[in-house]
Amino acid sequence: MSIDDTTVQEQEELARKQVLDLIAQCPRCHQNEEEVQMIRKAFELANDAHRGMKRKSGELYIFHPVAVARVAAFEIGLGAKSVTAALLHDVVEDTDITLGDLESLFGSKVAAIVDGLTKLEGVFDQSASLQAENFRKLLVSMIEDVRVILVKLADRLHNMRTLSSMPEHKRYKIAAETLYIYAPIAHRLGLFNIKSELEDLSLKYEHPMEYEEIVKKLQDSAVSYQNVIDCVSAPIKERLNMQGYEYTLKARPKSIYSIWRKMQTKNVPFEEIYDIFAMRIIFKPHEGLSEKAQCWNIYSIITDLYQPKPDRLRDWVSMPKANGYEALHTTVMSPGGRWVEVQIRTERMNDIAERGFAAHWKYKEDGKESEIDNWLKSVRDMLETAESDSMEFLDSVKLNLFSQEMMIFTPKGEVKVMPVGATALDFAFEIHSKLGYHCIGAKVNYKLEPLSHELKSGDQVEIITSDRQTPKYEWMNFVTTVKAKTCIKEIFREERHEFIVKGEQVLTDELQKRKLSINARILKKLMRTYHVTTREELYYQIGKGTVKLDNIEKSLTQKSTSKWVKMWRLTFGGNQEDEFEEDDDIDSISVPKSKKIVLSDEAEKQYTIASCCNPIPGDDVVAFLDDDNSIVLHSRRCPECIKLMSSRGDRIVSAQWESHKVLSYLVVIELSGIDRQGLVSEVTKIISMEQKVNMRSVHFESHDGVFSGSIYLYIYDTVDLQTLIDKLMQVKGVYKVVRKERNDNN
Ligand code: MN
Repeated sequence: MSIDDTTVQEQEELARKQVLDLIAQCPRCHQNEEEVQMIRKAFELANDAHRGMKRKSGELYIFHPVAVARVAAFEIGLGAKSVTAALLHDVVEDTDITLGDLESLFGSKVAAIVDGLTKLEGVFDQSASLQAENFRKLLVSMIEDVRVILVKLADRLHNMRTLSSMPEHKRYKIAAETLYIYAPIAHRLGLFNIKSELEDLSLKYEHPMEYEEIVKKLQDSAVSYQNVIDCVSAPIKERLNMQGYEYTLKARPKSIYSIWRKMQTKNVPFEEIYDIFAMRIIFKPHEGLSEKAQCWNIYSIITDLYQPKPDRLRDWVSMPKANGYEALHTTVMSPGGRWVEVQIRTERMNDIAERGFAAHWKYKEDGKESEIDNWLKSVRDMLETAESDSMEFLDSVKLNLFSQEMMIFTPKGEVKVMPVGATALDFAFEIHSKLGYHCIGAKVNYKLEPLSHELKSGDQVEIITSDRQTPKYEWMNFVTTVKAKTCIKEIFREERHEFIVKGEQVLTDELQKRKLSINARILKKLMRTYHVTTREELYYQIGKGTVKLDNIEKSLTQKSTSKWVKMWRLTFGGNQEDEFEEDDDIDSISVPKSKKIVLSDEAEKQYTIASCCNPIPGDDVVAFLDDDNSIVLHSRRCPECIKLMSSRGDRIVSAQWESHKVLSYLVVIELSGIDRQGLVSEVTKIISMEQKVNMRSVHFESHDGVFSGSIYLYIYDTVDLQTLIDKLMQVKGVYKVVRKERNDNN
């Protein structure tokens, strides 16, 4: 026996020990001998099947399924069947073992969970991204059995924990996908700890420097914050003791990701975030009194001692969040002048908050409809009606299932929960389809607004209808809920269907004249020429006459070496012929992604700058190949880009910018401070004279002695920009200078 074999055996023994430890420690995994044997058998099978395979980190592959099983058991609180499925989750995808084998060895439930976790393979509609298709499959199996998604989250968590051994371009893709899809699912299922860890890890890989900086600042400020907490909590403790409460009082910082998000959305530095540390009071309620009344009693104790911030009271005790979260939050002013957030929870509420009520939720046992059942039902509705286009599918998943909720009131004071972003028309459909079809507008808080008006939480909305109003297909553009979309589509289904049939006929005739018939290749070319993403949409547009087949000849004969391929050759030189088949199926181009694209000034014409985030040289960017095969550069922080990475990660390449200070790029900076005479001219002088930067436009506004302004300027790279910002900060009266990165107002 060689040394290698010995170490392999030792490692396998270690993995086996971890499984035995799991069985011993997890109460839901050793309820009977049968379960214990099932888990052991699953380990032995997975161990045999994965033998010889290693992870990127160099350790034996088997450690991955074992780690996933341990997360499922200890961090999500799942039982024997899920743990078994977790151990087996990669065998069908990566080894010769089939689902049939698993079914005969472990029963249909375990096999079904593994099936749900096995990625799809094969050919798809060209427009559909494989990732989105896989995600759709995951959701479909989740409806059958929510354990599928719970084990998937365990899998994803372990992959994120070990992400450092992956190559860079894969890291971005996985991190973005985690942030876009998996963290919100964990949140929706109430798995707060897992959600926070997923978010923090995503941030760590997407923006390592910013992540480290926040970690360091948190460490630096820990002591001073602990002093504040000690000083605030002492009198609270005294009064809680007086009233005979059993409680624990802890203080902890916000998650790194949520601090980062706040810095981004509010455009403020770390130092200006006032509620970094939160205090949590977890108490055992006195018997005979309602939990709600006691939460408010403690609130009253605290606000007798400290002044609360009026706009920061959050009452999730009277009305729990849809994911089950219950607590009372308030932010109070401490004696030292710092705001401190206080969260009040009973022990029961805390248990739900930490582990999620997924673990409490018994799988179809008592036959009662729980919140999760309701949620799964909405997932099912959505899957039935969702768009065929993958991007839209992801969008509607995000919007309908994971978005934040808002409360909208009817004229009679009834509450409806709607996703953030819903419009007046969505609300009309939410109440009744008839109301939707005849809606002409709405009174929002007694003020007349158009149908497209976006609602805000707390709005009271009265829908105005007219018998003469008829539904319009264009309404699809400003409704967001599945319900409204389904209603609108329903009305137009027949009409659309007629156009689709007609369109297919027109195309068939047109092709017949050229002795051709409809096939996948031709459809692909046409869909690209006419910028539609589905075959159905192509037929519809032809049928309706919006797409005319005048230049069909040209689009059929088009040579299709993409710009992408040309760019690639240009950048890396040499003959990459072997890497690219002269097939126009862009998805089949295998780009050597481990390399980075270098974006030099000379290559400028080959890419465009995304208008949503306007990156400039020096920014962290990724290159995205869009549907027209052109390269679009996004900033890595851009929300749009995170969405693209999660759904079309196959089209992402990491890119590096090399500036030779030849080309300059448009940047917007925003300034504010105390106004004084001559300030504007001093600012503009620094920009144009000292720093020799071209300005496109300058806008300043002054109000009661405070000014704010924005300047559009052309700059070479981030280094020059930082120098300029530093210079401007030295101007007397200027308090803040920031670059505006995004065009939207998030
Ligand atoms: Mn896995």
